[in-house]
Amino acid sequence: MKDIKCDDFQDNVSELLIRHKSILDILSKVAEAQTRINRAVAKSVTCCGCIQVNAKKQCIPIDGTIEDLRDCMDTHIEGKLCENCKDVIEKEIGNTLFYITSLCNILDISLHEVLLKEVEKLNTLGIYNLF
Ligand SMILES: [Zn+2]
Repeated sequence: MKDIKCDDFQDNVSELLIRHKSILDILSKVAEAQTRINRAVAKSVTCCGCIQVNAKKQCIPIDGTIEDLRDCMDTHIEGKLCENCKDVIEKEIGNTLFYITSLCNILDISLHEVLLKEVEKLNTLGIYNLF
């Protein structure tokens, strides 16, 4: 089954990637884009304040069920992203997807196939994928 949106996105990226076509440029742009996501999340905490980080050691129940573990693990985030921060983070994630897709394009890898394989892996491994 063909995923039109995924393939369309990959085609659009292929048409638009002119300036940073070298593998070295793309690899460094992927790393830069990832860093910009981290920075945007950090700014949501330190500048906006719409979310806070309250990190502590994760509790892991002994002899607990998977559901117990799921309930016990914490994101360490308090609050909720405001619309502005959410918009900024979405743009940075989109930028990262652009460069990840560019990497797929120059290596002749289908983004759609990557997603399908990942879904298959998740379905096969299920909850054991977490460990
Ligand atoms: Zn905010």
